[in-house]
Amino acid sequence: MLYFRACPRCKIGTVELSSDTHGWYLSCLNCGFQKAGDMLRAFAARRAAANTARAAAVGRAEDVRPHRAAVNS
Ligand SMILES: [Zn+2]
Repeated sequence: MLYFRACPRCKIGTVELSSDTHGWYLSCLNCGFQKAGDMLRAFAARRAAANTARAAAVGRAEDVRPHRAAVNS
């Protein structure tokens, strides 16, 4: 999974989130920043939420129901 402009170090880099036999890791294609560990699942969830919110804001997400999600949480 790629996250655009999501690098914690250089702020503008595209970050790749991936997993292998050692677990999850994050790698910036721009500056080479790397991070590994299970906490990256939280990072992925945060980024996914941000991307969903952004998509909803521009009206491209068809199955996003932010109001229902808010009620159920
Ligand atoms: Zn970077």
